[in-house]
Amino acid sequence: MNEDFIKSFQSTVGQNINLCYQCRKCAAGCPIVYEMDYTPTQIIQAIRLGMKDLVLKSKTIWLCTSCETCTTRCPQDIEITDVMDIARKMAVREKVVPGIKDIPDFYKSFAQIIRIFGRVYEFGVIVLFKLRNRKFTRDLGLGLKLLKYGKMSLLPNLGKAFQTKKMFLKVKKIEEENR
Ligand code: SF4
Ligand code: SF4
Repeated sequence: MNEDFIKSFQSTVGQNINLCYQCRKCAAGCPIVYEMDYTPTQIIQAIRLGMKDLVLKSKTIWLCTSCETCTTRCPQDIEITDVMDIARKMAVREKVVPGIKDIPDFYKSFAQIIRIFGRVYEFGVIVLFKLRNRKFTRDLGLGLKLLKYGKMSLLPNLGKAFQTKKMFLKVKKIEEENR
């Protein structure tokens, strides 16, 4: 049991996850629980028991899509989506090898594109993602289909790029002032 982990998690998440009584409603409603190595219910319990390695190395925290179904269903109003988000941030901060290697690469590529263009630009996300994971031919057929049916554009929409740049600069300034 890692007590520092429990304390740090509880203070960061700002809610009492000990209110969880393991009813499993969160796991029962999660749309991708079948792919997870531990259910959301098990992750909550592992945090309460201070099982830091299990939580931060799990696939679950990276597979969670933040859909909030679990949070909506929880009779104890536990914000499970936030719990997953904080676990991911902790895993990155502590340089834990992710349970699924590709997903952090995808997150980074996605965030980078939003920073540059201010909105999703799927083709750009894919290019950055492929440059990171170097699996150039995987899902190639799917990508070509998306292009063929007009579901993905080769060119970005630059409509919000300037505003986004301004927003990121403003946030950076605030962060520097608060350091
Ligand atoms: S739904 Fe809430 S109370 Fe029930 S197991 Fe999940 S977190 Fe715990
Ligand atoms: S927020 Fe994550 S853990 Fe909760 S139901 Fe959605 S995918 Fe599952």
